[in-house]
Amino acid sequence: MKNMLLTKNIALGMKLNDKGQEVAELQKYLERFGYLQPPVIAKGEEFRMMAPLARASHFDGATEDALSIFQELHGLPVTRQLDEATLQLIQKPRCGVPDKPYAVQRNPSASFVAQGSKWSKNILTYLFKEFTPDLNAAVVKAVLQNAFRTWALVSPLSFHEKSTSGDIEIRFVSGDHGDGYPFDGVGNVLAHGFYPPPGGGGFAGDLHFDDAETWTTNLPPSGYDLLTVAIHEAGHCLGLDHSLDATAVMYAYYGGARRALLNDDINGIRSIYGTRNRTIWSGIQAAVDGQGPFAGKAYFFKGGQYLRYDWGDDLADPNYPAPIVGNWRGLPASFTTNLDCALNGQGPFAGKLYLFKGNQYVRYDWATDRADPGYPKPIAGNWPGLPASFTNSISAAVSGMAGFAGKAYFFKGGEYVRYDWATDKADLGYPKPITGNWRGLSAGFTSNLDCALNGQGPFAGKLYFFKGGQYARYDWATDKADTGYPLPIEFNWL
Ligand SMILES: [Zn+2]
Ligand SMILES: [Zn+2]
Repeated sequence: MKNMLLTKNIALGMKLNDKGQEVAELQKYLERFGYLQPPVIAKGEEFRMMAPLARASHFDGATEDALSIFQELHGLPVTRQLDEATLQLIQKPRCGVPDKPYAVQRNPSASFVAQGSKWSKNILTYLFKEFTPDLNAAVVKAVLQNAFRTWALVSPLSFHEKSTSGDIEIRFVSGDHGDGYPFDGVGNVLAHGFYPPPGGGGFAGDLHFDDAETWTTNLPPSGYDLLTVAIHEAGHCLGLDHSLDATAVMYAYYGGARRALLNDDINGIRSIYGTRNRTIWSGIQAAVDGQGPFAGKAYFFKGGQYLRYDWGDDLADPNYPAPIVGNWRGLPASFTTNLDCALNGQGPFAGKLYLFKGNQYVRYDWATDRADPGYPKPIAGNWPGLPASFTNSISAAVSGMAGFAGKAYFFKGGEYVRYDWATDKADLGYPKPITGNWRGLSAGFTSNLDCALNGQGPFAGKLYFFKGGQYARYDWATDKADTGYPLPIEFNWL
């Protein structure tokens, strides 16, 4: 089904007192998106009653008023007729959620609009009902996770994917798909998102993409950018209406990739849910991924505090930082502040966490969540073969993965030492320079690393090096740094 307004030479210039099929098409458009009152008003769409009611196929005063409101709200010249600029906007792809030109109290100092309903909880779940054949399912999942995370970073909300039921159901469907808002084939309406409950029937909070569109993830997009549209629709699922700011994510019309929230969007979501208390750390002293009962989490240490990170959400958990004292049980007092590095054991030492500070270390047991008795011990003598410069103190440490499993790597200054878990001693021929042996690391990351961390879950097989306010990502399988790094810790981690 193609919008007849696309037959531009017929429709252009339509104005008061015109009649006919083109007028009916324009009216249908204005009705669909909230500017004219439709003949039948669905339950939950009472806002449509405030729109003027026009005589079908007649460009009457009501139609003219509706068109002029449409022009005014979108910053077009208010010509009250279907001029070139207006027709151009009408032909643009957009979100299927109607605008509410008559029903909202606009805040003169802001462009965002809060729809009025909100989730009564901050932890939300989502579920995929269908995928699109355009992209592989893992890519779609990663894009949607990224879309939710975009909102989570600036609000107290967090989102967890579930496989059986979820607050937010995600579908890729075309045409009539049973919710009363059929999609319209290629172009025009791209997607729609339902507001949070109450209301919405069984669809509250759901997110539907028109699968007649071609969804892509490349830049510049060769189809419609799934992330851009997903962030926008997720905004509706959280209770935002369309913004009048044409540069905002919540603007109704699609104008290419727009993957970052504008202040207007951020102010909008915060007006509903408040803000996230984020702790942005740079100079992280130690980091380690959780094991045993703590698998799926990462831990960052700085001063006397630590932060917990969730690999599945790709977000810091709320209510951190917390003090190391009392939460990491049995640690000697000196190990409750300013750790140098943290390392998970492998092979015969699996399930143990080693914390290093100065020339000493402590062994911690993940299963019992407590430090083993008899520590701290000196590094010297207990980690055989480590050179003297490394037994004084170690800056960063990590266990190898993939082809490097069974080894531990210790970093200090511009050098590193490889340690073998099975023989429990340092390999011969070390220390070696980081430069040249850890391929592709940018110059800043070949000396004085703050800490190193292995990824888990969707990030398994990746190694993260932190320094100052930045991090680099290394791939164990290809034994090479990933391109596009370093990136800031802020917003990527914290
Ligand atoms: Zn929308
Ligand atoms: Zn739908």
